[in-house]
Amino acid sequence: MRLEGKVALITGAARGQGAAEARMFAKEGAKVVLADVSDQEGISVASEIAESGGDAIFVHLDVTNESEWDSAVRSTVSSFGKLDILVNNAGIWRRGHVLETSIEQWDDILDINAKGVFLGSKAAIPEMRKAGGGSIINISSTAGLVGSRTSAAYSASKGAVRIFSKSTAIQYAAEGIRSNSIHPGPIDTDMGDQVWPDAESKERTMNRVALSRIGTAEDIAYGALYLASDESSFVTGSELVIDGGVTAQ
Ligand code: NAP
Repeated sequence: MRLEGKVALITGAARGQGAAEARMFAKEGAKVVLADVSDQEGISVASEIAESGGDAIFVHLDVTNESEWDSAVRSTVSSFGKLDILVNNAGIWRRGHVLETSIEQWDDILDINAKGVFLGSKAAIPEMRKAGGGSIINISSTAGLVGSRTSAAYSASKGAVRIFSKSTAIQYAAEGIRSNSIHPGPIDTDMGDQVWPDAESKERTMNRVALSRIGTAEDIAYGALYLASDESSFVTGSELVIDGGVTAQ
């Protein structure tokens, strides 16, 4: 198994990509802590993993809250002994061109998508040091690589995640802590339903994908699995684009 003996904390794990990563990591032998603001859904994904023979628990975590981060990391270590892998996956998307974006909307998006990644890294790195190394996987977006037609604040937050991942990578490489970003294209999740709410906008989105389909949560989880495992031990500060060819054009 590719993650045998490893302990992973995944944010936004109650649904979508985070839930797919939790299921896949557990299947590959990791002990998994699912963290989210959606308690009921998170508990039910953790129970489903445990019922099928995996090791998983759920913790309540709002990624914008520093003290909740401290307690999530403490629960991880008290339940499973250490922390090797952090997937900063939780995120929100809200529509808005520059002129339509309120300060409140900007702050909400930047707080969850960017500050959440900073706080998570800050909480996890001391435990990764104790474990002798670790892997931080930050879920950015193709909107962190190129400008967005639909959301200025979302794109800014994901650009911040991209470059923050590289700073983390170079600052902690000497201690065996790796940090990489993943840049998903359009993925079929609840967030996807917000971005393309009707058949016509879905069709438009699909037409921009060279591989002519919307991605699945598992398409991203396979990338996260690689970055979490020792197979990627020479990979840090990199950007893994999983977008069906959207940004290749
Ligand atoms: P999703 O289905 O909306 O799932 C996101 C999860 O994060 C939800 O369970 C959500 O809970 C949770 N969450 C929101 N705010 C949180 C907070 N403050 N603290 C902790 N958890 C919080 O989205 P997804 O598509 O799986 O997205 C996962 C990541 O991929 C995000 O970072 C997203 O920006 C990125 N991404 C997605 C796409 C796409 O097309 N889907 C493309 C590129 C990048 P609630 O729903 O209860 O708020």
